[in-house]
Amino acid sequence: MNITFCGAAGTTTGSQHLIEVNGSRILLDCGLYQGRRDETYDRNRNFLYNPEEVDAVVLSHAHIDHSGNLPNLTKNGFQGNVYSTFATRDLCQIMLSDSARIQTQDTKWLNKRRKKKGLPELEPIYSELDAEACLRQFVNIGYDRAIPIADGVTLRLVDAGHILGSAQVILDIKEGGQKKRLLFSGDVGRGNNELLRDPVATDDVDVLLMESTYGAREHELPTQANHLIRDILNRALKKNGKVIIPSFAVERTQQLIYVLHELTEKKEIPEVPIYVDSPLAVNATEIFRIHPECFNEEVYDFLFEKRNPFGFENLNMVRKVSESKKLNDRDEPAIIISASGMCEAGRILHHLRNSIEDEKNTILFVGYCAEQTLGWKIREGWDEVPILGDKYKVRANVEILDSFSGHADHSELLEYFGEMGGAKKDIFLVHGEPEQSKNLAGALQDRHKGNVAVAEWKTQVEV
Ligand SMILES: [Zn+2]
Repeated sequence: MNITFCGAAGTTTGSQHLIEVNGSRILLDCGLYQGRRDETYDRNRNFLYNPEEVDAVVLSHAHIDHSGNLPNLTKNGFQGNVYSTFATRDLCQIMLSDSARIQTQDTKWLNKRRKKKGLPELEPIYSELDAEACLRQFVNIGYDRAIPIADGVTLRLVDAGHILGSAQVILDIKEGGQKKRLLFSGDVGRGNNELLRDPVATDDVDVLLMESTYGAREHELPTQANHLIRDILNRALKKNGKVIIPSFAVERTQQLIYVLHELTEKKEIPEVPIYVDSPLAVNATEIFRIHPECFNEEVYDFLFEKRNPFGFENLNMVRKVSESKKLNDRDEPAIIISASGMCEAGRILHHLRNSIEDEKNTILFVGYCAEQTLGWKIREGWDEVPILGDKYKVRANVEILDSFSGHADHSELLEYFGEMGGAKKDIFLVHGEPEQSKNLAGALQDRHKGNVAVAEWKTQVEV
């Protein structure tokens, strides 16, 4: 079999790996590359293979860097099945159309610059209609159900503990009288997640494609550091101000809702109104509600007791723009969770603009912010930041809590690898910046006799 690394090799976005076996072409993930806008456009637009010749796609999970180029694949002639878990499909339904809207905005931005240079206008990579069209190709399976997907290839998905519906992909391959098991880790969760189960350990692995996002980094905080968020909220609400939490709409927001629900029930935080002000987050929460098969035992028990993990009395879901605007006029203490997590766009900008200059308010970061984003500037302690074209003094208190990461760190990845059985003869590290992947490769090679390589973009290997 041949493997071509078409994306998320030497970087963390655009996950795409093409497997060629017994005359079939199976694409693992079809992610969108996210980088500088002008480079991004070309890289996402042009595939390294002919989409018409791809027989099947297997999606590890719904994050855009793993699923976001699927509408473009279909638009360019891919007609095969897209295999994923049920929850991944449902999340893709809202995330891909949201991504289509972002593509349209980004293309507008690019076209403004191109016009100045006298260059012709570009079309968005895909539209909301394209996003809808690819959903018709989904074939869904539950965790741990085997299904043949090509000549001599059987697929099984097992839990990766990363986001709702996330999976590790197992391909059992018969080729030329030989049997091999390929495992693609997708993104690996930290374990001990508020909502999800731990990543499942797989046996008899021969070929491994493994993520390495935090291959060289250890997280500072353990998971479920709920006492820390409790203390931050108590301190913040004592000042009678608002707590603004920029948060990713999918997974992070639902983790927060669940933790706030628990803290409220135990009366460990004051009972103030909690608002989730992001249409995508509100829609994603609905999808979480209908997928109990993805939860860990604790959340499952919650459901069994007929309690809704994502609904309690002082929680308010805000869909309408008019309701979102009303929040700005309110002066009483409240917790407002809004997207985007990096404060690059969305309703969070209005909340920040309204709250950032008042020292009784708190801005709480619970996730990663890429360099130069507004979120990063506030986290870095800038005195003044630009929001929607104007400058604002940062007088609100800024707090950072990094315990919610969705990715295993260096030690957690080694543990994940250690629990996996089989000869693991050929190992390729994907989904990492070069220094992260190289560090993990070194640590693995110290412990293991198989071949450990950092996957290189656009290269093909035979295994
Ligand atoms: Zn992911």
